Amino acid sequence: MAAIKQIKCGMVNCFIIAGERGSVLVDTAVVRYRDMLLQTAKRENVKLIFHTHGHVDHIGNTATLMEQLSVPCAMHEADAETVKNPKAWVYHANTFLGKMIVASTASSKMYHAPQFSVERFFEGGETLEEFGMDAKVVALPGHTRGSLGILVDGKDFIVGDAMFNVLKPTPARLYEELSPMMESVDEIKNSGCETIYPGHGKPFSAKEYFRSAISG
Ligand SMILES: [Zn+2]
Ligand SMILES: [Zn+2]
Repeated sequence: MAAIKQIKCGMVNCFIIAGERGSVLVDTAVVRYRDMLLQTAKRENVKLIFHTHGHVDHIGNTATLMEQLSVPCAMHEADAETVKNPKAWVYHANTFLGKMIVASTASSKMYHAPQFSVERFFEGGETLEEFGMDAKVVALPGHTRGSLGILVDGKDFIVGDAMFNVLKPTPARLYEELSPMMESVDEIKNSGCETIYPGHGKPFSAKEYFRSAISG
């Protein structure tokens, strides 16, 4: 049974999944949280840095952490390509708040996180059992083409930015492609998970959300 620890980095969440043979760090936030993340990762015996996707607020400390911890990092190939050219990210939104987030995100296209090389590519369907944990990688495209989630113990779903909990739980407030994004929300629903851990905002109950949600 793996334990999930949320590491709050301002507006962004990173997570530690602790297994019997090491931990996986999910996402690396922005540079200002470097020292805190480094200390946490050392304490937690991190063996792999896993990225839910390649947006700059989720990869800011990857280069430093890889070097300091001597660990590889993983990402979907589609996002690994776009990371090399952040101006190529595409952002759409269909709500007022989403459009405001898109507007404020435009400036981040100018920002290049320190570059790193991705050593492991995931596309969904893999497990993280080598670290002694019951954790399955799930493709959740839409927010970005290469968005990935991790379903832990069949009940705790780290979903990256496939869903947000900003003001309230919703599907991604901004996205590259709408219809795969909504299919990814269905994928999360159909997993039967109990708790959803989004990249932004607090974890929330899947059952409560899907009982009341008419998505949007
Ligand atoms: Zn994102
Ligand atoms: Zn994000």
